[in-house]
Amino acid sequence: MGSGGIRERFGAVPHDPVRRRGVGEGRTLPTMLNMRILVVEDDDRVARGLVTALRAASFDVQRVATAERALSAPSADVVLLDLGLPDADGIDLLRRLRERPQTAIIAVTARGEERDRVRGLRAGADDYVVKPFGVAELLARIDAVLRRTRAARAEAVKAPPPFAVGALGIDPGARSATVSGTGLRLTRKEFDLLLLLASRSPAVVARDQILDQVWGATWEASSRTLDTHIGSLRAKLGRAVHIRTVRGVGYVLDGA
Ligand code: CA
Repeated sequence: MGSGGIRERFGAVPHDPVRRRGVGEGRTLPTMLNMRILVVEDDDRVARGLVTALRAASFDVQRVATAERALSAPSADVVLLDLGLPDADGIDLLRRLRERPQTAIIAVTARGEERDRVRGLRAGADDYVVKPFGVAELLARIDAVLRRTRAARAEAVKAPPPFAVGALGIDPGARSATVSGTGLRLTRKEFDLLLLLASRSPAVVARDQILDQVWGATWEASSRTLDTHIGSLRAKLGRAVHIRTVRGVGYVLDGA
C-alpha cells in the first residue's frame, strides 16, 4: 500500500467528500458487471462513500445498517460486512451469512483488530479489508473473490468423482467431506485446502502452491492464514486423518 490517496480511504477521519474523485471510472473490471453487492455498515458516512464508489464501478448495490436487515436482504454475490455492528456480534452474523453458499464475504475490521480478522477467516470470510481502506484495494479484493467463486462454480460442474484417502472421504462436486463416515463442517477455504492435500496424497504439497491455489497470488498475510487454516482443519479431522508438516516445504495428508 502506498502512502498516497489517504483522503480517499474509507473509515478514515474525517475526509472531504468533494475530493473523492470518480472512483472506479476506467477501472471497471468485467467480472463486476451486473454483480450484486450488499454493504452491511452502520456508519452512515462510510456507507455513503462505499455505495457511491461501488455504483461507480457498476455494481448493483444495497446497503443495510443492522444485522437483522442483513439477514433479511436478498442474496448478493458479495457481502461487504462490517464486523462492528450495533445489534449483533459480527462473527455470528458472518457465520449465518456463510450458510448461503453462493455468496462471497469480505469482512471489514477496524485497524489493529487482528483477533477479529483471524476469527473472521475461521468463520468463513473469503477475505478482509482493514479500515481505513482505499477504493482501489477494495475493488481489487472484490474482483479476486468473484473470480474465485466463479472458478469454484465452474469446477463443481466438471468435478471429479468422490474419492477416499484412508478414513477420509471427499466429494468434490458436493463439496462435502467425511471422516469414518461422519460429515465434517468445513468452511469454504478449509474444504479447498483439504481437497488439495487429499488429491495429492501421499505427496507433499508446497506452501506456496497451497497459497496460490487456495487463496490466489494477491493474498496478504498469507503465511499466517495458512497456518490458521491448517490448525482448524487438524482440529476438525481428529486422529484418524493426519496433516503432517514437512518442515521448510509444506504439508502432506496421511490417510492410513
Ligand atoms: Ca461499525
